[in-house]
Amino acid sequence: TTDKTKKPKWLRVKLPVGKKYTELRGVVEKYKLNTICTSGSCPNMGECWTEGTATFMILGNICTRSCGFCGVKTGRPENVDWEEPEKVARSIKLMKIKHAVITSVDRDDIKDGGSIIWAETINAIRRANPETTLETLIPDFQGNTANIDRILAVAPEVISHNLETVRRLTREVRIQAKYDRSLEVLKYMKDQGQRRTKSGIMLGLGETEEEVIETMQDLANAKVDILTIGQYLQPSKKHLPVQAFITPEQFDKYKQIGLKMGFRHVESSALVRSSYKAQKHLE
Ligand code: SF4
Ligand code: SF4
Repeated sequence: TTDKTKKPKWLRVKLPVGKKYTELRGVVEKYKLNTICTSGSCPNMGECWTEGTATFMILGNICTRSCGFCGVKTGRPENVDWEEPEKVARSIKLMKIKHAVITSVDRDDIKDGGSIIWAETINAIRRANPETTLETLIPDFQGNTANIDRILAVAPEVISHNLETVRRLTREVRIQAKYDRSLEVLKYMKDQGQRRTKSGIMLGLGETEEEVIETMQDLANAKVDILTIGQYLQPSKKHLPVQAFITPEQFDKYKQIGLKMGFRHVESSALVRSSYKAQKHLE
């Protein structure tokens, strides 16, 4: 038997190094900036930051949902901080970010789902950093199209929404979400003329190859342009256990299948996170 808890060698990462990384690390510490890259100790920091990409989380750090894979705290969120859009815009400027990924916790507690802060954040970033391109990794807004329209209206270069897992495991992995609703959100955005849409799934939660391919096909049918596939890693003992470590060969197989299905970009390997190499996807 193999030890499922032992990380295979392809998951061991080198510590981030390099001049640009060290410089940015200094800026982040000095101004106490909030990036997912540092708070989630993402393994790709060296690479992303060198390319000028970073991910920022808005609408606080407490989520109204409690997905079984996610390390973000669940509970009653704090009040919306109306200064937040300016703060994020300033962070991006200080860090000289070329491609910013913005994401948020889910705010099912507020009527607009947080979409007003979302839109104001995009506008504030545009004003302060007209050269910076943007990717917004949005929640499902419970399928509320008025809220989704606010994001579409401010026209981020890429809008992503993650499906996270296959249909069968959705209940277990993201209890308050729905597989079909997420697909509908993605399809809706494309139908409204959004140029680039993106979605991501994690593997190693117990899904079969057949289920992965079916999910990829569902995303292709929703006309998603960019697909990311990565290995699930358990954030703590309280989270869903890792059922399998997917081999590099298997990841590569999915990539080839995805490209044949018509996705414009497929990032598929163990350390891929939804914002990994995000800048490349603008091509
Ligand atoms: Fe940051 Fe995302 Fe890159 Fe990780 S993959 S370093 S979270 S931009
Ligand atoms: Fe984490 Fe997003 Fe789920 Fe909230 S909705 S628990 S932030 S994955």
